[in-house]
Amino acid sequence: MKVSVAHNRYYDYEELSALLKSLENNYPDLLNLYSIGHSFGGRDIWVLEITNPVTGPADSKPAYYIDAQIHAEEHATSSVALYASWYLLTNYGIDEEVTRLLDQQVFYILPRLNPDGAELSLKEPYRLWCGNGRFSPDEIRSSGLIEQDIDENGMLLRMRVPDPKGEWKKSAKDSRLMVQREPGEEGGDYYRLYPEGLIRDFDGIDVPIEQPRDGNLNRNFPANWAPETVEYGAGEAPLSEPEASALARFILDHPNIAGMCAYHTHGGVILRPSMTRYDSEMSPRDLTLYQDLGAVGSKLTGYPTISIFEEFTPDKSKPRHGGLMDWTYEEMGIISFGTEVWDIEIEAGVKKEAFLNFHPKGEEAQQKVFDWVIENVGELGWRDWTPFDHPQLGQVEIGGMNYIWTYRNPPGHLLENICHKNVLFNLRHAAAAPRICLETVVAEPLGNDLFKIRAVVTNHGYLPTNLSDIALKNKVAKPVQLTIELEGAELVMNPAIVDLGHLAGRNERSHPWSPWGQQWSPVGKSAEWLIRTETDQPIVRVKAISQKGGTHTKELVSPF
Ligand SMILES: [Zn+2]
Repeated sequence: MKVSVAHNRYYDYEELSALLKSLENNYPDLLNLYSIGHSFGGRDIWVLEITNPVTGPADSKPAYYIDAQIHAEEHATSSVALYASWYLLTNYGIDEEVTRLLDQQVFYILPRLNPDGAELSLKEPYRLWCGNGRFSPDEIRSSGLIEQDIDENGMLLRMRVPDPKGEWKKSAKDSRLMVQREPGEEGGDYYRLYPEGLIRDFDGIDVPIEQPRDGNLNRNFPANWAPETVEYGAGEAPLSEPEASALARFILDHPNIAGMCAYHTHGGVILRPSMTRYDSEMSPRDLTLYQDLGAVGSKLTGYPTISIFEEFTPDKSKPRHGGLMDWTYEEMGIISFGTEVWDIEIEAGVKKEAFLNFHPKGEEAQQKVFDWVIENVGELGWRDWTPFDHPQLGQVEIGGMNYIWTYRNPPGHLLENICHKNVLFNLRHAAAAPRICLETVVAEPLGNDLFKIRAVVTNHGYLPTNLSDIALKNKVAKPVQLTIELEGAELVMNPAIVDLGHLAGRNERSHPWSPWGQQWSPVGKSAEWLIRTETDQPIVRVKAISQKGGTHTKELVSPF
């Protein structure tokens, strides 16, 4: 019987831990649950290892890694990872795709990389929080406006402050909505909008707002890392944060990881490399495979697939530094996508102008989002402007959108559909891994107890055994090996371990062969050995080993 997990709500750390343990109790044959380290605040960072161990140990199979909630406030990412785990466990033996994948491959699923930060944002007053638990909410700013739930309604909202210098005015259609005052526009009632809070060392003139120091684990990885002065949120040094360090160790210790998806919630879009370069500077073969795999993702999720650098980096002079995907793809050559699972504007029917912009939205767009929030989120998403006597700013109003439960995360009733379509893409991406197959192992008698052993290995996967050109360039791709082990026989010629280099996937054949197109590389290779039998029943064991494409063993028992 399927274990039931409610996919229409969010879970705090205690609830999530209990759920994962109940999955482990119910699926002990498929799931290995373990902690890969502790957060700054001492919480476990859980990983679910899901495979059918009967068909081979996890580390001998191509792996797919699902990463969630590196950013504290992106709660829906954890929901997708939990759904992926549940979907794999409950559909094994029922669904063909799931059964095949768990027989041939392994999934490593990390549902919450940043449990300390998640708690801060998941519970009242629902803080906008990116980083981990190194700093408390009181420590992330030293002066100026300090966010605080001053009207004690359980939410951090906005303050609407009358100010003749203000850049906001009430919408003429709906006084709850604030629209930007145009350049040169005079003669109305104007306002300033500030996050709800008190001002430390207030000079009676300005309301300065410091960038918070909560950090960004997704700038703490050892690829193209830059310090805080260059990259906001970078941390003291690469992998200075325990969560990033534990994850990096985990990825290094699992060199079978061939594909991964890092989940976020900033717009409904699938992000692909490069993070730092134009497409024209990428390997054309890597670019093609990202576009072709991305097209599958777009078909399944409805999200467009775009380059992080070209379409998600507004200022090209400031590419991101120290990102997880930068490390996994640009350094290690793992095929990595980052999926942003939530976009309230698309949901509300607003036409998107760009994937990442902070430009104030027009009146019509705001109205659509507002109406949508009232209907779909209700009280948790919007509070009407309420008069408040601010000790420093005088008469203000507090209200507006609760960002965590509107712009940052979908309401519970939409979660399951979002999770499902994204997990379908994860499964298809996972299935694109290289998969080596020992096609034949034959023994040819040469007389005088001598035999020639010939083994042929091919790659059945979409991806090559090196995964990417960048893995070759960085010399991180281990060659495919054929090894021979003998019982009752001795090896006469050729080494027992033969390096074969790499086997191509079908990714490079995205059009019929042409002398001007991508040229094709070998998809299969062979090795030969000469052996002399020493007993009547010798055993010849040939193993094909690929770091990313799995292991396949065949045994010949005499008479050959
Ligand atoms: Zn994010």
